[in-house]
Amino acid sequence: MNLFGTKTFAHGIHPPESKDDTSGLPIRQFPFAPSLVVPLSQHIGKPAIAVVREGQEVTRGQCIAKPDGFISVAMHAPASGTVRRIGLTPSITGKMVPGIFIEPFPASTQEILEGTACDASTADTQEIVAAVQQSGVVGLGGAGFPTHAKLQIPEGKFVDILVINGAECEPFLTTDHRVMLEHAEDVMAGIPYLMKATGASKTIIAVEANKPDAAETLRAAIPQDLEIEVEVLPVKYPQGAEKLLISALLGREIPSGGLPLDVHTLCVNVGTTAEIGQLLPHGKGIQERVITIGGPAVKNKGNYRIQIGTPLRFVLETVGVEEDITRVFLGGPMMGQAVSSMDIPITKGTTGVIAFSARETGFLDGHKQYPCIRCGYCLEACPIFLNPSQLGLLAEQDQHERMVDDFHLMDCFECGCCTFVCPSHIPLVQQFRIAKAAVRRMKAPV
Ligand code: SF4
Ligand code: SF4
Repeated sequence: MNLFGTKTFAHGIHPPESKDDTSGLPIRQFPFAPSLVVPLSQHIGKPAIAVVREGQEVTRGQCIAKPDGFISVAMHAPASGTVRRIGLTPSITGKMVPGIFIEPFPASTQEILEGTACDASTADTQEIVAAVQQSGVVGLGGAGFPTHAKLQIPEGKFVDILVINGAECEPFLTTDHRVMLEHAEDVMAGIPYLMKATGASKTIIAVEANKPDAAETLRAAIPQDLEIEVEVLPVKYPQGAEKLLISALLGREIPSGGLPLDVHTLCVNVGTTAEIGQLLPHGKGIQERVITIGGPAVKNKGNYRIQIGTPLRFVLETVGVEEDITRVFLGGPMMGQAVSSMDIPITKGTTGVIAFSARETGFLDGHKQYPCIRCGYCLEACPIFLNPSQLGLLAEQDQHERMVDDFHLMDCFECGCCTFVCPSHIPLVQQFRIAKAAVRRMKAPV
């Protein structure tokens, strides 16, 4: 067995991993904030509909918003307390979104409400899909796509291999690493739900070679009655992107604009899988998640189980930050988003809070931008073989149609490899995000 793995994808980069500060720290419970706000939209699809009213007392884990249609999920109270307000709250997108404000009871034991259990051995596909939707689980790797909708396999399609994504290639983040180490049993409990719902006959858990302890722990936890393999992959960014992961593991290439389903595969984040394994046997809803709080500007770095709805201001005040903090990301520095407000709450899709101070923002800030020198480094880095140099030149001229039609802009998944390697410090991925948003606005029905 090759401990470092050989299967990988073409191109990509090797940014500093920056995981040593937190990878060895066990998950700890984060304190409850004096006020929590649960946004009604924390997922791709329609926002949930509030089913509580202002002034109502709620129990931790109680459903407080129901799904609005199939591409939507339920929301649950992150604490026993009182609904103080239903109103607008800032979100990572920069927009104000509706949310439910809850003031936790100070002396409550914060027991979590249980509901109707879903047993993987007796439930049928539709029962599992419904239970996952009611549990409120969405892609915890940051994608935010409702997991139950992934599990609903359309007529004429089939899945033979389920891929559990434990690559966690984003610098600084160690949440999935700790979940694999500390909750391997939950991962194994979640897999049968996913296999049964999708019809997959085999599961591969993909782990990068910088987490050998996680691979070992998972292997030791594999139940005898399920076909599950743990595959170790070389460390490379962005290994965790599902198309690249499936290509690396199985040699199956997903067509442009296609889905893993097109190559009979489904990919689910390992943290999402553990959450399903924890929640469904007890009929619980997701009301907390594990995140990494780190980066050079954070004093008490760690991996924390934190209530969904905890405001970022409370997070940073609790862990303590350096005085010269300049930038905070939700998620990692490559694919995460810089925040513009400290009132944004932690949501289901928040993988981490990573803060930098003025001393380390070298590659993030302050570099003078130069013209493209056609060095080709960005082409060598792009894992899906786009031409970021040409896309960048067209972005500067607002030639969005040519970017889409001739240079496949919409295939760009914003990994940031091109920006990272560009010696001219051209903010390529930022340009592509803006261009993609403009294209989507153009195409949106009026
Ligand atoms: S951000 Fe887009 S263009 Fe740049 S390397 Fe990643 S996928 Fe390629
Ligand atoms: S890496 Fe930067 S300078 Fe080099 S070709 Fe790409 S955009 Fe131009």
